[in-house]
Amino acid sequence: MAEAAADAGRAPNLRLFFALWPDAATRAGLHARARALHSECGGRAMRRDTIHLTLAFLGETPVRQVERLRAVAAGVQGEGFALDLDRVGSWHRNRILWTGPSMVPPALAALAQDLEGRLRADGCALEARAFSPHVTLVRNAHATPREAQLAPLRWTVGSFVLVASERSAAGAHYRTIGRWPLKRRG
Ligand code: ATP
Ligand code: MG
Repeated sequence: MAEAAADAGRAPNLRLFFALWPDAATRAGLHARARALHSECGGRAMRRDTIHLTLAFLGETPVRQVERLRAVAAGVQGEGFALDLDRVGSWHRNRILWTGPSMVPPALAALAQDLEGRLRADGCALEARAFSPHVTLVRNAHATPREAQLAPLRWTVGSFVLVASERSAAGAHYRTIGRWPLKRRG
């Protein structure tokens, strides 16, 4: 037991998730959208460097499993795609404002499904909830946005990442610990 405790001390858990991470130009566009929503609805806009789209949430995971997760990710057969973020919505219960696509590109649905299937086959206990692609922009909003439909913000997605969520006094900080390219569309 003493050994196990010592091992646990050396190998803490990481809070992990797979995500799409925007390039600088997309990040700037998303952050502008977050600021506009924040002006309209209050709350707290996501920091520019934290904006992302979650593909699969793993939660607390022993560090020693990271290499296996890398191997799982490397097996994913995904194609790049364009994601048109043209909708804005809110979840009242947690007062989140998000942006998402009115049409989910088939390659995004396939990517999420392939990743989820491979993670489950590897023994990951993922939640059963359906994949609902969205980018959180504002938290603790006081109102819902007037417009649900916006001019599309086009995000060209060419890779996906594995991220560790680390909390600090300044809020959530995300550290990218792996990136895998998606195939270029022919
Ligand atoms: P915090 O919880 O510290 O306010 P956060 O929600 O951004 O910050 P995490 O809770 O680590 O950070 O979540 C990381 C990402 O995974 C976020 O996009 C979050 O929405 C998503 N996520 C968190 N929990 C789940 C869950 N149970 N199922 C699906 N996605 C989740
Ligand atoms: Mg959270």
